[in-house]
Amino acid sequence: MADKNIPIVVWIRRDFRLSDNPALAWASQQKQPLILVVIVNRKKQAWNPGAASDWWLHHSIEAFTESVRECGGKVELLEGNPDTELSRVIEESGADTVVWNRRYEPALIDLDKKIKKQLSARGVRVESFPGNLCHEPWQVQRNDKHPYKVFTAYWRASLKVESIELVNRVRTIRSFRKKITGSVRLAQLNLLPKLDWADNFPEYWQPGEAGAEKQLKSLIQHQLTDYQNARDLPAVDGTSRLSPHLAFGEISPRTINAAIRKALLNEKIRDDDNTEAFLREIGWREFACHLLFHFPETTDNPLDKRFEKFPWIKVDQKTFRAWQQGNTGVPLVDAGMRQLWQTGWMHNRVRMVVGSFLIKNLGYHWLEGARWFWDTLVDADLASNTMGWQWVAGSGADAAPYFRVFNPVRQGERFDKEADYVRHWVPEITGLSNKRIHCPWTADEGELREAGIVLGETYPKPIVELNTSRHAALARLEKIKQ
Ligand code: FAD
Repeated sequence: MADKNIPIVVWIRRDFRLSDNPALAWASQQKQPLILVVIVNRKKQAWNPGAASDWWLHHSIEAFTESVRECGGKVELLEGNPDTELSRVIEESGADTVVWNRRYEPALIDLDKKIKKQLSARGVRVESFPGNLCHEPWQVQRNDKHPYKVFTAYWRASLKVESIELVNRVRTIRSFRKKITGSVRLAQLNLLPKLDWADNFPEYWQPGEAGAEKQLKSLIQHQLTDYQNARDLPAVDGTSRLSPHLAFGEISPRTINAAIRKALLNEKIRDDDNTEAFLREIGWREFACHLLFHFPETTDNPLDKRFEKFPWIKVDQKTFRAWQQGNTGVPLVDAGMRQLWQTGWMHNRVRMVVGSFLIKNLGYHWLEGARWFWDTLVDADLASNTMGWQWVAGSGADAAPYFRVFNPVRQGERFDKEADYVRHWVPEITGLSNKRIHCPWTADEGELREAGIVLGETYPKPIVELNTSRHAALARLEKIKQ
């Protein structure tokens, strides 16, 4: 029997929730006091959280701390190397056990292994629990035990594997009462940006578990009824916007799936293509983790080795900045990049379009785009971002073939027919007709004058010619094919 006064350390990472939190639920059942720690590591390392993630993290910690307080607990905020900080807390408090939920990014797996080994050697019990997935990345595998590289096959197989079970919401936490030295206040972590860039984010987001539950409720009441069609229309509020909540573990995919199952049972939604399409998207998230776990090198290297020799074009900083700032002169691309800058999020279809523009039309390495997204997306997630960029580049698993170059004009005409999306984010070209608005350079002088536009002054001329650059991209592909 464990001593009722010896504490357990619960290391909270990206799992800022009380519902379906396996590590926290297990620890809270042990009748021992708990020390909940969040450790922010400022050491510069590959794929450190970006600025938008830090903004979200600040607010997520704030919301979680409050929920934990309502349950009688306390969150200790620490800064430094997780191994040193955990050791220090154990030493100081006399804790005999450390628990956490698993994460699957390569660097974190290595760190977890190292810490587990160190602590076990000191006689400290270490327990890890399933992370924020329906299936552990190794649970879904081919008959020959190799990992899947094609989504459809992965998805089909995953449907046959039982999902990790939901655990009950934690309602009371018995807190360790002694002071933990080195514990800092949230503001001292300096997670909020120095610039006023994120000031508008609260208009779009409510970080924290309550915000996630609100989005889930909205999904079931509204977006699911027409998800299949509306998910492709950037002007429509047609998707769940659960991605940042999932990225920070404010909700688990198991909770989402269970809520959908319940709504189906209660006939609040229909078991139709919309529900199926949504569940598949959750499946894509799982697939991304499966890939990252089995191919950890893909965060920086192409999965398709032929792309190691791809003749990428050297980045011209002025052109790259025009892409980042949404001043390329190609309206759908600019709308997407401005949406990203102003809200920390971009619609999925537009992510593919701006990615294709950067990789194919400008010829830049996909990592340039991946890094910018990493810094500016509130939902930045190493698995999904890596898969998304490699998909667009054509170098990843189940990727779009490289020769598929998205035409941003056609994409706009098809998925933003009334140009509501472009007009919202690129207001300086609002006056153009729907026929011209996705390609202002085709408007004649009269049309431009009437719309109050001087190309090259009030709105940029395209920084690259779409057709020529497309052909150049295909020619570059030929080089690696040879
Ligand atoms: P919904 O349509 O409501 O989908 C529900 C959930 O399913 C999402 O929250 C997400 O968790 C998952 N999902 C949906 N589409 C995908 C997908 N294609 N791949 C993986 N999971 C998916 N998603 C991230 O969460 N983080 C990223 O860093 C990220 N980077 C991307 C980069 C590129 C170049 C591309 C093309 C896509 C990227 N995505 C990323 C995937 C996708 O764009 C977002 O998950 C989606 O737009 C989030 O909006 P939503 O929550 O409203 O999605």
